[in-house]
Amino acid sequence: MTAESCDVVVVGGGNAGFCAAHAARESGAEVVLIEKAPEAEAGGNSYYTAGAFRVAFDDLDELVPLLDPGTTDRLPDTVVPPYPASAFAADMQRLTEGQADPELTEILVSRSGDTARWLATKGIRWRLMYERQAYLSGGKWQFFGGLALGTVDGGKGLMADHAAEARRSGIDVRYGAALSGLLEREGVGVGGVQYRQGDDERELAAGAVVLAAGGFESDPQRRTRWLGADWAAALVRGTPHNTGEALDLALGAGGARHGDWTSCHSVAWDAGAPAGGGERRLTNQLTRQSYPLGIVVNRDGRRFVDEGADFRNYTYARYGREILRQPGGVAFQLFDASTRPLLRTEEYDSEPITSAVADTIEDLARQLSIDPQGLAATVAEYNASILDVPFDPAVKDGRIARVAPPKSNWALALETPPFYGYSVACGITFTFGGLHVDADARVLDERGAPVPGLHAAGEMVGGLFSGNYPGGSGLTSGAVFGRLAGAAAARGISRPPGSP
Ligand SMILES: Cc1cc2nc3c(=O)[nH]c(=O)nc-3n(C[C@H](O)[C@H](O)[C@H](O)COP(=O)(O)OP(=O)(O)OC[C@H]3O[C@@H](n4cnc5c(N)ncnc54)[C@H](O)[C@@H]3O)c2cc1C
Repeated sequence: MTAESCDVVVVGGGNAGFCAAHAARESGAEVVLIEKAPEAEAGGNSYYTAGAFRVAFDDLDELVPLLDPGTTDRLPDTVVPPYPASAFAADMQRLTEGQADPELTEILVSRSGDTARWLATKGIRWRLMYERQAYLSGGKWQFFGGLALGTVDGGKGLMADHAAEARRSGIDVRYGAALSGLLEREGVGVGGVQYRQGDDERELAAGAVVLAAGGFESDPQRRTRWLGADWAAALVRGTPHNTGEALDLALGAGGARHGDWTSCHSVAWDAGAPAGGGERRLTNQLTRQSYPLGIVVNRDGRRFVDEGADFRNYTYARYGREILRQPGGVAFQLFDASTRPLLRTEEYDSEPITSAVADTIEDLARQLSIDPQGLAATVAEYNASILDVPFDPAVKDGRIARVAPPKSNWALALETPPFYGYSVACGITFTFGGLHVDADARVLDERGAPVPGLHAAGEMVGGLFSGNYPGGSGLTSGAVFGRLAGAAAARGISRPPGSP
């Protein structure tokens, strides 16, 4: 066993881990980051993202100075409604049905804008997300749904920028290094890590440990235990490495569980996608998020959700679960020639794609293995039920289809051939349950007292999300709590015994 020491060790090299590492490093700490994946598979779920960050702002002028100069040519024709902290906080409570921990939510929301600015000082490049979060309406790019800011080159760009900053600032990043134990400090708390790298089992003593090793979404056994047996069949959207052992080790060290361990973020995902982890070239392109413009049916040809209940950002994270409940765990998003041009190009023009095109609804049904008569009846009833008010995808237009379930906005008749169908399954993104932390991202025990030397960030923080989630909040949470964890870990360090 090889023993060595440092000031702060960060476990997990996703967005939260790198934010913790940058914050500890800028406070003068000597930082080692251990990442389970080999370098070729690194970046965690953060690598697979679209790079969307939800931040509060009162005026677009607050975001403009952050934007990469190469991305601003459309600014004069861009309308981004303000998204004040009160709206972000209200979305958190509304979407989680009041389950969001108020203290943690306040931190997430109030630190979101400042943390985006801090990330810019660490070399993260920002842009506005025109292709996902805006529609061209009346010659203007009209943003909707409270989410405008994203990183240049999505998650791939985000993680490349993080790694470059780590190299620049002298953070020691070790790939293929999997946490296997937490070292005890002076009989209480945590004083370092044990990790496996290749055939070696190593020990690294540290003044403080920041855990940022993701949830348990990639482990079918833990999914079955906490989310239910159906969840063994979900397709893993991101990294295969978030298997929950770091959560177990933190609980073993005295940390308390917090938040909703029975629900998760899950979405409509290409039904032909790999089951055990995402595809590193396509990353988020396997998602299918333009369903508010069409209808979604199951194998019987029946609709089962209100596709237009709200902007996509506020419904997508709970519709994966609804798909999982359907026969065979599959569903089909249907559009026609009038709506097809409005779909997100990087998702629906992506190859390979599990889809079909046909000149009739019945033929489309046969190609996708949907009951043709069931689908024809659904479409006929839906088409006849639409309230004829103007269609506008950039606002909640009230163009309702009065069927059961209703489609509350953006209902357009499916009547212009050719018809397009996309097969989707449930893609699991990340789990909502995690550890209890305080305002310094210190892990708390069952009594609410900090476990000395232990911090947590990112998906490992419980209490923020339950049942649903406002799109773009995961990266923001990782950045806000990662930064707090790294700074507090560096502040609280006592050099481990025997170190120089
Ligand atoms: C396809 C996809 C698209 C998404 N799009 C967005 C988006 O646009 N905006 C948004 O806000 N959120 C998005 N999310 C959610 C977002 O990815 C997460 O909320 C966020 O990235 C979590 O960051 P993290 O650092 O906590 O975890 P991760 O980025 O997953 O990092 C955790 C790291 O820990 C490592 N690890 C695990 N176990 C160990 C161990 N034992 N020892 C050492 N290391 C370990 C893993 O290998 C991994 O690299 C998306 C997720 C997916 C999968």
